[in-house]
Formats: sequence, structure tokens, C-alpha cells
Amino acid sequence: MHSTASDGSLSPERVVERARSVRLAAIALTDHDTVAGVPAAVAAGERVGVRVIAGCEFSSAAPWGEMHVLGYFLPTHSAELESFLERSRADRLRRGREMVARLQRLGVALEFDDVLRQADGGAVGRPHVARAIVRQGSATGISDAFDRYIGRGRPAYVDKVLPAFRDIADLVHAVRGLVSVAHIKERGTRSFLERLQREGLDAIETRHPSHDPELRARLTDIALRLGLLRTGGSDWHGDPEPGEVHGALGAQEVPLEWLERLEQLRAPPPAPVGP
Ligand code: AMP
Ligand code: ZN
Repeated sequence: MHSTASDGSLSPERVVERARSVRLAAIALTDHDTVAGVPAAVAAGERVGVRVIAGCEFSSAAPWGEMHVLGYFLPTHSAELESFLERSRADRLRRGREMVARLQRLGVALEFDDVLRQADGGAVGRPHVARAIVRQGSATGISDAFDRYIGRGRPAYVDKVLPAFRDIADLVHAVRGLVSVAHIKERGTRSFLERLQREGLDAIETRHPSHDPELRARLTDIALRLGLLRTGGSDWHGDPEPGEVHGALGAQEVPLEWLERLEQLRAPPPAPVGP
């Protein structure tokens, strides 16, 4: 789930409270390129009785462009992780500025400060740019802003600088986290996932609003054959406006057993003590 620490619309506390309201036992907060929302989410989770897994959604290079990678069980005070994420967030600022410059050339009267105001200290993403465009009056809604201006292939779209999957996997493992590939959709072929596994993949996000039952079954089959674990989630960003791409809160049923297996993989049980 996403919060105002990146492009979600609710604070980490509110995200957890909403999770509680639909009786989720556990959630992962996986903001883009930051774990800044995690401490507040964990505290809220302790208060209302929701287990909060510290996560992060990384953007990674892929043969087709961009692929998202979920890191789970992350520390919030790791200098190594933080310096990596800080570079990614700095690149998001660079890219946000470039998108605004392009928008200005297209006649959209926007300043980068308008985008920063939308982000309100969170990791800057295209949804913030979209909200600023809508506010300025050049699009009728978030999806319209993506369609007209900042969707991939549209005139104000700018690429991020993307780290290699292997580097993300190595980083996450160095801080004792686990790596799952997010909403891989039709790109999740067996050969591609095998390649990611060789580079450190631990799990596949089989359950996601964008995965239909057939795709979900195919990814499940691959995960079981390759010995990869499974993850899932709603990718909730707050209550969506009509036509928005994200799933409904609590709409993905994820067995608690999957979480237990992830924990087992992360921390192998201690060797039995001698006789
Ligand atoms: P970024 O990481 O800055 O490229 O932003 C990507 C985020 O934008 C995704 O995680 C989605 O939350 C959102 N997004 C992408 N495409 C659309 C779309 N067509 N409509 C609404 N939100 C979108
Ligand atoms: Zn997002």
C-alpha cells in the first residue's frame, strides 16, 4: 500500500486505520523509493492491531523499459539503503523538473513548486504532476492528465534513471530483506522469471488488481515450479477517482501463510542445539 510518503493520498496512519476498517490482519507499506512512512505506520499498526511490514517499491530497468520491484522487511535506519533511496528520490526531482519544463513548452502554465506542493515532502511521482495539472485546469482528472501529457509515450513523459534488478536485489538482501517482482503481468514468462531468480528474486507478486485469474494461475504455477514464494496486494493508493487504475482496499485476498513463509525464508530457523 502507498501513503503520502510517496504518491498515495492518505498519511501512513490513515492507511493503517483504513486497513483495520476492512479487517486486514497485515499490510505492507511499500511507498515508491522511500521507507519514510514506515515508522508512523508501524506505530499506528500497534495501536489498532494491524501488522505492518516495512517495504518499498523500487523502479528497476527491464528489457522493455521499467519494472517494479518490492522490497519487504526493510530497516528504516540503514545508511546503505537510505543512500540508495536518496539517489532515486533525487532523480525523481530531476525528472519532475524536466516534466514541468516540457509541460510549459506545451502551454501548461505550471511551476515545479506546484508539483512539490502536491508531493508535500513525499517522494515525487507522476501522480503529483498529474494532480498539479488537474488543479491548473489542463486536464479533467488524473487519468486524463496521464493520457494527455505524462503517460509513457506522451509528450511530457520523462524516464527515470533505473537501477539494474540485480543491484536492487543485492541491496535488499544486504539489509536482510526479501525481493518480489511487482505486477509483472504478461511479462512474467518462465524464462524471464528464472533469470530474475538467478539474480536474486525471492518471490512473485501473483495477486494484484491488474492480474486476471488466468494470469494469476500462470504466475502461481511458475512460482511453484521455480520454488519462488508468492506475494500479493491491492497496491492501494487511497480512494481512487473514477477511471483510476488502482485496486480497491482489501480487494486482494492474500493468505497469512504466505507471510509466514516469507518470514521463514528471511530468518532460517536456528540450527538444532546438540544433544
Ligand atoms: P512514477 O513512479 O513517478 O513513474 O509514477 C508511477 C505511478 O503513477 C504508478 O505507481 C501509478 O500510481 C501512477 N500511474 C501510472 N499510470 C497511471 C494512469 N494511467 N492513471 C493513473 N495513475 C497512473
Ligand atoms: Zn504509486
